[in-house]
This record gives sequence, C-alpha cells and structure tokens, in this order.
Amino acid sequence: MSQHRGTPQSRGGSGSGGSGRSGGGRDAGRRNAQGRERHRGNSGGGRQFSSAAPSQRSRRADPARLVAFEVLRAVSGADAYANLVLPGLIREHRLERRDAAFATELAYGTLRGQGSYDGILSESVDRPLKDLDPAVLDVLRLGAHQLLGMRVPAHAALDESVGLTRAVIGAGPSGLVNAVLRKVSAHTLEEWLDEIASRTPDVIEQLALRQAHPAWIVRALRQALVGHGHDVAEIEDLLAADNEAPVVNLVALPSLASAHDLDDSGAEPGPLLEGSWLSAGGDLGRIPAVRDGVVRVQDVGSQLVARALVAAPLEGGDGAPERWLDLCAGPGGKAALLAALAIDADASLLANEAQQHRADLVRRALQPVPEERWEVRTGDGRDVGEKLPGQFDRVLVDVPCTGLGALRRRPESRWRRTPKDLTELGPLQRQLLDSAIQATRPGGVIAYVTCSPHLAETRMVVDDVLKRRDDLELVDAGPVIDGVARGETLSADHGGYVQLWPHQHGTDAMFLALLRKKTPAAAQA
Ligand code: SAM
Repeated sequence: MSQHRGTPQSRGGSGSGGSGRSGGGRDAGRRNAQGRERHRGNSGGGRQFSSAAPSQRSRRADPARLVAFEVLRAVSGADAYANLVLPGLIREHRLERRDAAFATELAYGTLRGQGSYDGILSESVDRPLKDLDPAVLDVLRLGAHQLLGMRVPAHAALDESVGLTRAVIGAGPSGLVNAVLRKVSAHTLEEWLDEIASRTPDVIEQLALRQAHPAWIVRALRQALVGHGHDVAEIEDLLAADNEAPVVNLVALPSLASAHDLDDSGAEPGPLLEGSWLSAGGDLGRIPAVRDGVVRVQDVGSQLVARALVAAPLEGGDGAPERWLDLCAGPGGKAALLAALAIDADASLLANEAQQHRADLVRRALQPVPEERWEVRTGDGRDVGEKLPGQFDRVLVDVPCTGLGALRRRPESRWRRTPKDLTELGPLQRQLLDSAIQATRPGGVIAYVTCSPHLAETRMVVDDVLKRRDDLELVDAGPVIDGVARGETLSADHGGYVQLWPHQHGTDAMFLALLRKKTPAAAQA
C-alpha cells in the first residue's frame, strides 16, 4: 500500500511542451498550474532555432530560470542545500505560483539528474567539464534538463539559456552555450542514455547513468533491498521513486490542531496514518494552522516511527507519568509530534540536540506545545546516558545518517555523499544507541531510527548491539507500526525490523528497530 498523489515527474516527465516563444518569464500566464510551459507552435519534434546570433539575442533572463540558476550556483558554488535556498529566492524574485513551480521543477530536476546530464554534456563539449566556468556549466545543466527532462521546446530552451548566459555571465560564452545545447537537443534523453550506456557492460553503471544515481549508491540500495527481504529487481522502481517530486506530507499535531484546520486548504487525508495529510502544494504559509505551528510539514514515515515508539509496549514501571527522550532532536520534527502526543499520554519530553542552532529550531518547533510537556537540552547525546541513567520510559534515537532514504527530498545530496560518510557515521551511531540504552529504565523501549535503508547504518548497528549486550530484547516493530497505521499492513516479515520504502509506501525510506531494556526478572529468565 502506498500514498501517492499525482505529481510532476522530473525526468522525461509528461511535460506538455513549451511556449514556443522566447522571452520566457515576461509572460507568466503561459505556464500551467504545475509550472509547465504551455505549448504554442512547434512541438518537441520540430527543432527550430532563433536565426539571430547568440550574442545579439536578449539580455534578459526569465525570472524562473534565474531563480533555478541561483539555486544551482548556491549548491555547486557554496555547498548550500537547495531546499533551504529555494524558498527565499522565490520570495526575493517575487515569483508567482506557476513560475515558482517551474523554477522548483527546473532546479530540483537538474540537480537530481546531474550525473546523467553531465555524461551527456561531456559528449557535447570539446573540453573536460571541469575546465568550464562553473556558472556556464550550471546554465548548460539547466538547459539540458529543459530539453531532455521537461520537454521545453528546443528553441525556447536555447533562447532562454542564451538570454540567461548574457544576463548573468556575459555575452562571451553565449555562443558556446548555444552550440552545446543544439547538440544536446539532437537526441532524446533515452537516445543519449542508450548511446552512453552501451559503452559499459557493467549493469550497475548503466543503471546509475539511466537513473541518475552514483554507482556506489545503486550498489548500496540493491544490497539494502535484498538485506531487508525484498527482490533485487525492485531497484529500478526504487531509483525511479527517488527521481519523483514527493508529495508534501503534513502532520496535524494531536491535541493541538483542530479537525477543521485543513478545511479549504485542498489537502487530503493521508491514507497511511491518522492525522497525516497530503498537501495540495502552493504556499503553505497561507494556512493559519501552519503559521501557528500546529500543522507541520513532516514525511509520513517520520510520523509512523514516532507514533510507533509511543505505542510500543513497556514492561514494569512505577505508575508515575512517563518520561520520554529524543536524543538527536534537531530540527525538531519528531520532537514536536512526540511532545504533542505527550499531552494525551500525560508524559513529558526531553529533546536533546548537539548543535546550538538546531536546538533553537527544536525549541521553535515545540512552541505550540504547552511548556510543561517539554524541555530542550543542547549537548552531545553520547553523554546523556551517563548523566541521566535509567531515567526514561521511551527513547527515540534518530541518529545522524547518510540520508539515503530521503534522496527525493534533497536533490543534490546523492552527488555529495560518499562511502566515507558511512565509515565516519558508524561509530557515532553505535555510541548514540548505547547512550540511549543507558538512559532507558529497565522495561523501557528504545526506537533506533534512520532515514536511510543502508545495511551498515540499520540492521548491522542493531544486530551488533544485540550481540554485544545481554540487557536488551528486540521488540517486533512490525505489529507495532501496523497497529498505528490506518488498519493496513505496512510491514512484511523483516526479522523484527521495519523498513519503509519510497517506491512501495510513498514515504521516505525510514528504518525502525524497537529494543526493550530487560527488567531484572527478564534478565534472569
Ligand atoms: N529527529 C529529528 C527530526 O525528526 O527532526 C532529525 C534528527 S537528524 C536525523 C540527526 C540530528 O542529530 C541532527 O540534528 C544532528 O545535528 C544531531 N546530532 C549529531 N551528532 C549528535 C550528537 N553527538 N548528539 C546529539 N545530536 C547529534
């Protein structure tokens, strides 16, 4: 079962063609509600180009394309995160809804497809791509995505790319941009990929090129599918799901949001979980409950694992109100849901975060929840177990990870991550889990969570701690998560663990293991 809502696809999406005109953003009305350019005139098949020399053409940049260009420059030039810089740029350039949707699809689609587009551009440029001015390379990548991934008519993509080059870089490279993109436009994406892929016999390399993922990630995701009990053939669907624009999920915080907060917002109830919603898109800031912080953006996978921790059966206990701990809380998505759930459970939450600015975000996320329910601590989670041993009934340890389960949300991250990250994160993940266990009272439950399905940061970490320690038992997370989901079965038998998947469930690829600290009686048995 899954939760999908029709969304534009980035690669080879069903774009309805382009305006057939140059002069792009000067006429926002030509874009449809999804931000696709309406076709007037030549269809994708007709490759007609402007007869004016590139250096004579417009110096004006289409504002939507300019925003996408600035996103790419911030990402490739200043290591920024696209999802953090894009909203500010949309506001700064005052893009209307359609242009904002076009800019988003252009920036995100280009970033997701970068590996494939660079492969194609390498065939069309007479020098190594690294020798190009990085700004010119970004214009070319944007042009390639318009031509091959968005089906903007060739003449519009070319004219707009030349205009953008002249406006933001100068007339000098406009001839090169024009010539390269003409070559790119000579073939469809499929033709280009067939041609380049035919040069390697390695099926992983071929898949990596076709689905625009680094080969090491393709290998890791194949292993993850098999290791979590799936058929290796699902890899194509999984990689394709990473290339889709995800539906924005919302959570209505229990006890705080009202049943009517999302009336008239266009949002639909999420099929997987009570209190989850699928946004209709657009500016969420227009919804008062979002402004008040009682409705928040949160992937439903995150909602499920937080609710599973609260639903997991405890043993023992002294009947006092429960104390909950979120050991790695920043930026506070799960902490906000946990604190809201704490109201009904008469519990309280300590939210810990190592980085000060992220702890501030947690505090902001918790604002709508009555203060007596929560406290924020800034500090290293590895110290918490020693400082507060055996204090908590329920502990979430949502460890820092590679984020390979959320590639569809962070379009640039697949090209930034390296296998070295795994080597560095492994010891930290184990130390944080040990600290979480130490902070848990006997009979209490720990939820070990990652936003990655990679075996090295999921099953291997938990298998390892179960081997090393004799004070723990694995709680089968399958029935617990099925119990909180809307009467559906999410989990197949995965040996006590739950792994959600974008291609199967429409969620981020969240991993959940539930561990119970043994009571003295259980330890002796
Ligand atoms: N639970 C969060 C949410 O739902 O919004 C996401 C947590 S994120 C996967 C991991 C967090 O752990 C990051 O905010 C990171 O700064 C924090 N972190 C990294 N090292 C840490 C440490 N040693 N102690 C505590 N937090 C740490």
